[in-house]
Amino acid sequence: MSIRQLSPDVIAQIAAGEVITRAGDAVKELIENAVDAVLARPIRREAGASSELAEDFVRVGRISIEIWDGGYTRIRVADDGCGIAAEDLPAAFRRHATSKIESADDLERLATLGFRGEALAALAAVADVAIVSATEGAPGAQIAAKGGAVGSVVPQARRTGTSVTVDRLFDRVPARRKYQRAASSETAHIGAIVQAYALAYPEIAFALECDARPVLRTSGSGDLRDVATALFGPEVARNLLVLRGPPDEQTGDTVGLSGLIGAPSLHRATRNGIFLTVNRRPVDSRSLTYAIEDGYATQLPIGRHPVALVDICVAPHEVDANVHPTKREVRLLRDRPIFGTVHRAVRATLMEAVGIPTLDVRPTFAATAMPENPLDPAPASLFGAGPPVDPSDPIDRPRLGSLRILGQIALTYIICEGRAGLYLVDQHAAHERVLLERLERAYADRQRAQILLDPVVVDLPRALRGAADEYVAALARLGFDAALFGDGAIIVRSVPSALRARQLDQVLRETHEALDELGAGPDWRERLALLLSCKTAVKAGQRLEMAEMQALLNQLDEAELCATCSHGRPTALLLSHAQLEREFGRR
Ligand code: ADP
Ligand code: MG
Repeated sequence: MSIRQLSPDVIAQIAAGEVITRAGDAVKELIENAVDAVLARPIRREAGASSELAEDFVRVGRISIEIWDGGYTRIRVADDGCGIAAEDLPAAFRRHATSKIESADDLERLATLGFRGEALAALAAVADVAIVSATEGAPGAQIAAKGGAVGSVVPQARRTGTSVTVDRLFDRVPARRKYQRAASSETAHIGAIVQAYALAYPEIAFALECDARPVLRTSGSGDLRDVATALFGPEVARNLLVLRGPPDEQTGDTVGLSGLIGAPSLHRATRNGIFLTVNRRPVDSRSLTYAIEDGYATQLPIGRHPVALVDICVAPHEVDANVHPTKREVRLLRDRPIFGTVHRAVRATLMEAVGIPTLDVRPTFAATAMPENPLDPAPASLFGAGPPVDPSDPIDRPRLGSLRILGQIALTYIICEGRAGLYLVDQHAAHERVLLERLERAYADRQRAQILLDPVVVDLPRALRGAADEYVAALARLGFDAALFGDGAIIVRSVPSALRARQLDQVLRETHEALDELGAGPDWRERLALLLSCKTAVKAGQRLEMAEMQALLNQLDEAELCATCSHGRPTALLLSHAQLEREFGRR
């Protein structure tokens, strides 16, 4: 489609604005143009393919990004996409001129990342911009905008595709220059942008160079796990689970989910490992991020965040990308059911995959054979010891209750033997997980609540004095029969059967102290259940009888998320026979 001016009524419907406020914005817009162009170029057999084998070889899209000084000195983005016809080049710089949509209706069925026809015009207003482009079979041409003035089209040889060079961004705009980020922080920001698009388009080979140094490179193989390997290294990629699509057909969801999510052991200090796309458009969404994190619930340590690479696919008319100038935020028509679907899919994927983490005594041979440089990934399994691990293989969930218990060590760990090797179970972590899941079911089970002969009276948590009724209601949901008692106290008449009544007043007091320490944040209800299970669970240092250990392992088998305690720590570790043999040099 040629580049045409949008009509005033369409322009009026476009969320216009300051598209370019920092170098990263320019890089993002240029990448989006390059992706649109690569996807618009019909996939064809590799030119000159002669043999039968080469018949299957399809062209790989390539996008290379080079930046200097965080993009403020120069940005160059080159692609091998469809190119721009020479006669269209002047229109590319015109405001509201686009080849991607024609009418307002097209906004309802967007299939491209760009649609406003604004980016190149906005860039030319704040930098010197040169475009060299060639369409299939054409010789190529160049156009440049300098000091805001667009020059004429001149011939310039180029292979099919487009390169856009942006020089001296904001030099002419002193007000903007003041707000420029330090080059180093902008470089990092641009790195994250390129990562997001590389993950969204595994079939396109991306390369980023900063100040002439190669920073990242993906292969364009089309496999998301390959992109993850290139960006995060083989260790992370190996621990990614294939996200199971929406598990429940009966909700009639027309939402498609795909991607990879990290095993709970892969947690990070920030949310930077969460990459979300909606219809392959990278987006920032607090609520979708929350839906994913909530799917991990208690499987991550407090304050840690998962790795997730997730695409949400909805019908084009169900998503509005036109709500924000940067298009980083989108509006979903049916957001609530979609969040629910995402949450359930994450949880189902994790539940299927929970296994006992194996104990790595020393870096194994396979690990040392990993390439050091993620930019240059060699297939590790070719050189490593043992077969490659396929994380999509469901890991068998061992029956802990059938293990032979050997005893207790350090009054903290239960040591047992099974077919796979030696198991160590953290008695506190294990019991805490068991109790948490029982508490979560306690309300449904409340007829089995244990009535106290001597009701317990304790002070309300100070942090929740203003929310006393909510606090009593929260206890009721966990299976307690509690009521307000005078000013600032509660009386508890029965407790969920999961919690032993013996030191109930102490458990409640310690729980309240912990709630006060952290203050009543928005998540105090979840914390209440976590704290009650933690304070009730057997402690490290407590001697356990054989029968008690056996009972605990049986209970752990019944827990859905048996592999971690409610703080995300592992409940059990496995030292496999193979590892023992290796460590003793038998193999
Ligand atoms: P938009 O992407 O919203 O259409 P832009 O200002 O970013 O607006 O680009 C204007 C037009 O220039 C696009 O519609 C497209 O036709 C053309 N264009 C820009 N970059 C490229 C590219 N890398 N390859 C091919 N065409 C491009
Ligand atoms: Mg664009």
